[in-house]
Amino acid sequence: MSEFVVEGVWAAPGRVNVIGEHTDYNNGFVLPIAIPHTARAFVGRRTDGRLRLASTHAGSESVDLAAADLAPGALSGWAAYPAGVVWALRAAGYDIGGADIRIDSDVPVGAGLSSSAALSCAVVLAFGDLYELGLDRIESARIAQRVETDFVGVPVGMLDQMASLGCVEGHAYFLDCRDLTGTHVPFDCAGAGLRLLVVDTRARHALVDGGYAERRASCEEAAALLGVPSLREVADPDAALAALPDGPLRRRVRHVLTENERVLRVVDALRNGDVRAIGPELTASHASMRDDYTISCPELDTAVDTALAEGALGARLVGGGFGGSAIALVDEARCEAVTAAVEKAFAAHSFTPPRFFQAVPSAGARREG
Ligand code: ADP
Ligand code: MG
Repeated sequence: MSEFVVEGVWAAPGRVNVIGEHTDYNNGFVLPIAIPHTARAFVGRRTDGRLRLASTHAGSESVDLAAADLAPGALSGWAAYPAGVVWALRAAGYDIGGADIRIDSDVPVGAGLSSSAALSCAVVLAFGDLYELGLDRIESARIAQRVETDFVGVPVGMLDQMASLGCVEGHAYFLDCRDLTGTHVPFDCAGAGLRLLVVDTRARHALVDGGYAERRASCEEAAALLGVPSLREVADPDAALAALPDGPLRRRVRHVLTENERVLRVVDALRNGDVRAIGPELTASHASMRDDYTISCPELDTAVDTALAEGALGARLVGGGFGGSAIALVDEARCEAVTAAVEKAFAAHSFTPPRFFQAVPSAGARREG
């Protein structure tokens, strides 16, 4: 391919959700931070209607197609994300033509840190600027969400996109997914002598996609049974749980209802400047996902249990489950011991060696050049 046209660079970060898992598609509460790992989109408009896509990520084949030919399902693989942005913008009525898009991202792929939303959000921002579309954050997030739900075919909520676009440095983003209003809550781990450690288990079990869709369908079924538009509208959690038949459906609902309450308690603790107090809520969130929502796996449980045994204040799986990453809130002085213990436990189980990151609350998406 001839050299790519570049009119600017737009950056969008990955995210770690501190707490509020599987609540976004239930109109509930989430509390993500943006991480330093970022997708950068180098984008230039083309006048010939061609869409040329490239990524520095290993195994990402370059693609050259006509922007007007895009249709859901027509593209598989990584190129569906940037091409899906063009499709979603056109579907929303924006007159987007051809472009060159080169992606350079250091967000770990498939680790539950939302490399997909980082990529899509960077490209949405690029087109918003280049075509002066006047997109606000929420509309940009909806476009990026439609890339995944309608073009790629994964029924995701709005957490990843809103986090990548809306987070600010040094803060967690307390977001109400019912109306997408949010506030920034100070989250100063370092000031409290703590680290938020991310353990990428490198596991990705077959249930990832089907398990997610199935949980989502359960929540909708339960809301219908309870006669509410979504689980967020449940006024009396105990009565609602008692009204559901004893079994997996009731337990799944219990996860969602209790998880929303945990988010609110964590937000209160952070507003009081008490970062240490969130530890037990993280651990309770993990137990709820393991026992009630049943989305954990041996690698995630090993990471969480080992971190806790080594003195972590709290730990939980993050993201969809069935693999991906866990987080642990750890005293700075215990960080190395926790890391070493998790490595050792993974080796003892013959799991793939994990990777570790520190999640520092970072800036959301922006134009960089
Ligand atoms: P996550 O968002 O948790 O990392 P997903 O399965 O939602 O996991 O998204 C991962 C997919 O996003 C990859 O399989 C690939 O198609 C695409 N992707 C993410 N980052 C890149 C990149 N830098 N280059 C090419 N494709 C990417
Ligand atoms: Mg993703």
